[in-house]
Amino acid sequence: MISLDIQKIRNDFPILNQQVYNKPLIYFDNGATTQKPQVVIDEELKIYSHENSNIHRGVHYLSEQLTQRYEDARKTVRKFINAKHDHEVIFTSGTTESINTIAFSFGEKYISEGDEIIISTVEHHANIVPWQMLCERKKAILKVIPINDKGELLLDEYQKLISPKTKIVAVNQVSNALGTVNNVKKLIDIAHQQNIPVLIDGAQSIQHGNIDMQELDCDFFVFSGHKIYGPNGIGVLYGKEKLLNEMPPFMTGGEMIKKVTFEKTTFNELPFKFEAGTPNYVGAIGLVAAINYIQNIGLGNIATYEKELLDYATKKLESIDGLKIIGTSQKKVSVISFVLDNIHHYDAGMVIDKMGIAVRTGHHCAEPLMNRFSIEGTIRASFSFYNTKEEIDKLHEALLTVKQMFS
Ligand code: PMP
Repeated sequence: MISLDIQKIRNDFPILNQQVYNKPLIYFDNGATTQKPQVVIDEELKIYSHENSNIHRGVHYLSEQLTQRYEDARKTVRKFINAKHDHEVIFTSGTTESINTIAFSFGEKYISEGDEIIISTVEHHANIVPWQMLCERKKAILKVIPINDKGELLLDEYQKLISPKTKIVAVNQVSNALGTVNNVKKLIDIAHQQNIPVLIDGAQSIQHGNIDMQELDCDFFVFSGHKIYGPNGIGVLYGKEKLLNEMPPFMTGGEMIKKVTFEKTTFNELPFKFEAGTPNYVGAIGLVAAINYIQNIGLGNIATYEKELLDYATKKLESIDGLKIIGTSQKKVSVISFVLDNIHHYDAGMVIDKMGIAVRTGHHCAEPLMNRFSIEGTIRASFSFYNTKEEIDKLHEALLTVKQMFS
């Protein structure tokens, strides 16, 4: 048992302290985006009120100060994920931009006709479509790791998919639609035996526990600030130095150049080669405030408490007749995806919403995964450390009401 002071934590998040439809807001849509603690909001406000100036190119006071803070933010992220070098941390707008950058840049350099790219059945569209489009451009082949009925990747099948033509493996560490934690360490080890690089989509794992680049040994790791209690529009692309150095830039323009003439342009070094244009320095510094905030609580404590919530909610929801949980692996983060017999997920979501409870309904940007389970979508409740068992009780009650209404 751990003793997080949840009420105190909740007070740090102003948005939680409100009513919707005259009911206290219960926010169970943390998989889509997390709420921001006051320290993150204050940090952004402070920058815009007192510190704002474009970075890297000014010789004046404000620009120099903010450039330093932006580069310090890179150091903080480097430490947070335990990457080897600061310049292995590239700031992007989020997971989607990070994956697209890798798919274009790595694809440009390493993918040719007939090459193979491996993804998995549980991917978010952000980790499917960029690879699919790369395959179309290069006439390469997309292969997909299948799953079992619990939503777990089949490692034997994965091993069979690997061939001398495999050029990259791209999988998520946690499925956004099911909450399943994939054994990415094993996937990476298997790929590395054949010298195949691996990209890990960490959009749904980074906020739930400690992640260590050097221990994981993945070649790329991507995540979004807004899913880790930080600002929107900031994200991270981690890549191993050697690969990033070999890869061409994706976006081009200001900041990423060394020298430009009308005849030829030479590119800047890492990390700037991948940061064309004015970076989101406000977001990067806001992300630091978020990282500091959750590190203060402790990612281990967060994981333990969220597991408590998951176990409690799983028991409660399972007890509802006609409710089926989709994604029943033992290894999950605090996400429960479920369907209700004969009740459309959208109808259920609408009713639950009127009770002040925010859940997400639909395919969760994972249509191929929904097809695998022969469903159109699910209702997804995703819990954070600021949620409580009492709120889960309210969801339980709301679902009983939904059942009654539609019976
Ligand atoms: N991958 C996963 C697993 C996700 O959950 C998400 C967001 N739902 C994304 C990628 C895309 O993230 P973003 O929209 O922040 O770019």
